[in-house]
Amino acid sequence: MSKTLFEKIIAREIPAAIVYEDDSVLAFRDINPQAPTHVLIVPKKAIPRISEAKTADQQLLGHLLLKAAEVADKLGLTPSGYRLVINNGADGGETVEHLHIHILGGRHMAWPPG
Ligand code: AMP
Repeated sequence: MSKTLFEKIIAREIPAAIVYEDDSVLAFRDINPQAPTHVLIVPKKAIPRISEAKTADQQLLGHLLLKAAEVADKLGLTPSGYRLVINNGADGGETVEHLHIHILGGRHMAWPPG
């Protein structure tokens, strides 16, 4: 199977502005930011979307979420707040078939989302 865009970023085949990396996750700036700070954090394991995650992924998913909060904090977003978003499938607005959490901050987020 061919690599997804984010697998190519993880493999350093496509450049990205990386803000955090460890053995199991990578965080990098979104190429088309929707807020003053817009970072994506992805598992290195190729899970296509949250609806396809398995019980065996539980530890990785917990790590991903905790690191999302840690990255947001490192980027200075904790005092004013931020939003974490996972788009799942067509109606969710998913465009890249590799699980990712959007970290959005630096402006007030409207609710409900569009
Ligand atoms: P989603 O619509 O939830 O699947 O999010 C995919 C995100 O990937 C979008 O916000 C895109 O702007 C972002 N994106 C697409 N290509 C790149 C890239 N080469 N580097 C960083 N972010 C990207």
